[in-house]
Amino acid sequence: MSTLVFLEHHGGELQKGALGVLSKAASLGDDRVAGAVVGSGVKDAAGGAGAYGAQTVYVFDDPRLEAPLPQPRVDALASLVQEEGFDTVLFAASVLSADTAAGLAARLDAGLNWDLVDLAREDGRLVGKRPALSDSVYVDVGWTSEPRIALIRSGSFDPAQTGGTADVQERQADIQDFSLAATMVEQAHEESEGPSIEDADIVVAGGRGLGSPDAFSLVEDLAKALGGAVGATRAVVDAGWYPYSTQVGQTGRTVSPKLYVACGISGAIQHKVGMQGSGVIVAINKDPNAPIFEFSDLGVVGDLHEILPKLTELIRARKGS
Ligand SMILES: Cc1cc2nc3c(=O)[nH]c(=O)nc-3n(C[C@H](O)[C@H](O)[C@H](O)COP(=O)(O)OP(=O)(O)OC[C@H]3O[C@@H](n4cnc5c(N)ncnc54)[C@H](O)[C@@H]3O)c2cc1C
Repeated sequence: MSTLVFLEHHGGELQKGALGVLSKAASLGDDRVAGAVVGSGVKDAAGGAGAYGAQTVYVFDDPRLEAPLPQPRVDALASLVQEEGFDTVLFAASVLSADTAAGLAARLDAGLNWDLVDLAREDGRLVGKRPALSDSVYVDVGWTSEPRIALIRSGSFDPAQTGGTADVQERQADIQDFSLAATMVEQAHEESEGPSIEDADIVVAGGRGLGSPDAFSLVEDLAKALGGAVGATRAVVDAGWYPYSTQVGQTGRTVSPKLYVACGISGAIQHKVGMQGSGVIVAINKDPNAPIFEFSDLGVVGDLHEILPKLTELIRARKGS
């Protein structure tokens, strides 16, 4: 068994999601676990993957790979998989990874299972776990041929340092002319303060119970005091109160912080599936029968407009700021 993990990077840093998938792959007991870093000026980032279980990291460092476009990455990965004989290729979900995984599946005539939340070896076979029926059940999925390609839902695995070192090998990408037909015209980055909701240890999320977009400042203040990130429900994102990039749930992000504070959120199943992996869930809701209390570790029944400012004040005072 040999697994290759696509190691996505931003700004010279390997992404947490990809390192989580790498850690999971390393825990499955395969003979070979390797990573692939594809980009321009990425050699320095590659070595770090050894600490997360990669025995080998293949680096494709080429100015033509600078833009985060999928097709040149398909060229690089397809030749690597064929030359090295990997039987499994894993991706942590992102827009770039999803496009690259789909292109690789088409190029290698391989099966792709997507939106997996877990992987296991059962009787020597690789089995993927995939939510179905609005995330209310999990189904086992497999592959009928090799290589097996899988796209893992974000936040499914935490990176785990094992302290190893990787053999870093540089490769040349044989990029096809048609793969360079698409070019990046412009790239924009959303400016945000603090950690992203997927990386944050603490997420404070707001729902329709806030009553107005202005009241999101209460959530922001608490998140800032705790050093966390702000999340939102689809109800408030659809209403234009907060950006989609913060939406937690079935059609948003999956988060698994150590602490999740849900403020004025009812706890619909579509929201729950995006945050149920959190370590401790605290809910503030004025309705004692709100479904969120069924899966919260700590519930506060009351008006968030009164509770949040006091909580923020208390935390600031405790932290001495
Ligand atoms: C296909 C599909 C996909 C979806 N994907 C997502 C998704 O990704 N993420 C997501 O979040 N939702 C998703 N939804 C929507 C989901 O079903 C819910 O409608 C949504 O999560 C509800 O958001 P909410 O909890 O903010 O609002 P509500 O359900 O309206 O809940 C508001 C809560 O605030 C409480 N409240 C009101 N006033 C106060 C106050 N002053 N103090 C304290 N509490 C107060 C109320 O008691 C209530 O429990 C999806 C739905 C569908 C059909």
